[in-house]
Amino acid sequence: MLNILVLDPYPKAGHRICKDNAGAYGTANHYGNNLFCKFLNYFVKNSDLSPPLFAAQIIGELINSGHNAKYNQEIDNLNYDLFIIISSIVCHETEIKKIETLISNNKNVIVAGPFATSYPEPYLKAGAKVIFGEPDMFFHKFNLNLQEINNLPSRIKNFKIYDINDLSIPGWKQIFKFVKPRMKFLGKGNSIYIQASRGCPYPCFYYCTYPTQQGRKLRFKSVELIVNEMNYFYKELKVSNYVFRDPVFAISKKHTMDLCKKIIDNGIDFKLCIETHLNNIDEELSIMLKKAGVKLIYIGIESGVKKVRDESHRLSEENDKQIEKIKTLENLGILVKANYIIGLPKDTKETYLQTLEYAKLVNTSYAQFSVFTPYPGTPAYLDYKDKIKTQKLEDFTQWRLVFEHNNFSKSDISELITKSYTDYYLNYKWIVKYIKSKFLN
Ligand code: SF4
Repeated sequence: MLNILVLDPYPKAGHRICKDNAGAYGTANHYGNNLFCKFLNYFVKNSDLSPPLFAAQIIGELINSGHNAKYNQEIDNLNYDLFIIISSIVCHETEIKKIETLISNNKNVIVAGPFATSYPEPYLKAGAKVIFGEPDMFFHKFNLNLQEINNLPSRIKNFKIYDINDLSIPGWKQIFKFVKPRMKFLGKGNSIYIQASRGCPYPCFYYCTYPTQQGRKLRFKSVELIVNEMNYFYKELKVSNYVFRDPVFAISKKHTMDLCKKIIDNGIDFKLCIETHLNNIDEELSIMLKKAGVKLIYIGIESGVKKVRDESHRLSEENDKQIEKIKTLENLGILVKANYIIGLPKDTKETYLQTLEYAKLVNTSYAQFSVFTPYPGTPAYLDYKDKIKTQKLEDFTQWRLVFEHNNFSKSDISELITKSYTDYYLNYKWIVKYIKSKFLN
């Protein structure tokens, strides 16, 4: 049995940093600089926070393999046999500093996660070994001794890929000893990230990080295992709020209908958040999602201007179809959070302002405006890598412009972020809707 620390470092910040977002590269929600945006920074940081699912899955695999695995965001002591670093772009330099400390103390360090897979060099240079690919597969049935760990190559590749139905229950119990994840938009109590599928076949992989590790081929978890996992944490940790972290939940209508039915038959009142593509939503599915306990749906609209979407390789519904589907969901009582992108490759100030007007017209319960970011590992990065304007990878927050855009300066983007959140949430139509939802429901 090995003593292992799963180390998940973060820089200090007054806003939310989540390593699970953006395909587990991580994002940092810095809403802007006026008083209202500072309130949003504080509010969201305190409402929605969790370590990444892949960290929980690694811990689950280690415990199931008979090891003593602990989660921490700091190095609590050096007496571990192995340190596993949870990598991200958004905390990259902080992670490197921790690795340098550990390596200078002659410790075994392995780095895991999609970002390290796509951008391994700085981690290797700092002296760590890097897992290329899904780390929970590498740690499933992990039976190496210290000597064998020492002998691993610095680039750990070509390990066995298991069926996702063979993986262990994630180690949230260990994580809850350190931090209690929350998603207050689902209600009181703690929340847990969960997965019904991996992989995404859609063409927006041009700029999206999800397929870089999970691939474009879909893999589904059995509905029995998903509901067993929810029941297990309901019993062990009293958790009834679940956030599905599939790249596109509901990508298979049959699997989703079966899952909803299983959750309904299970009889426990779970509250669910999912992220999906409007393409997959119809009225029948919307009704089932509501019955199964879905309270909040994230959808990507990206741009209100079809030409801008098309030029970014985005698969989209027409605008009137989007509005119709969103209305169906919200009329059923499901809250919708729409995600928009500022500064898509062909965006101009004019097209982005049209997007902002479109967002106000659609008037979903929540909206997020983030900045187009060419991430290492994606085809977009190859197009923009010579135009990257920052040396610090922690600047890749999705809330800053990190490259030289043909149509926007850094300060244009920063002003547009502040304008978007202020115009959207301080718009009378949104305020009236919010007040009605609070007092009439
Ligand atoms: S639909 Fe597009 S943006 Fe969403 S996960 Fe798939 S590739 Fe990424």
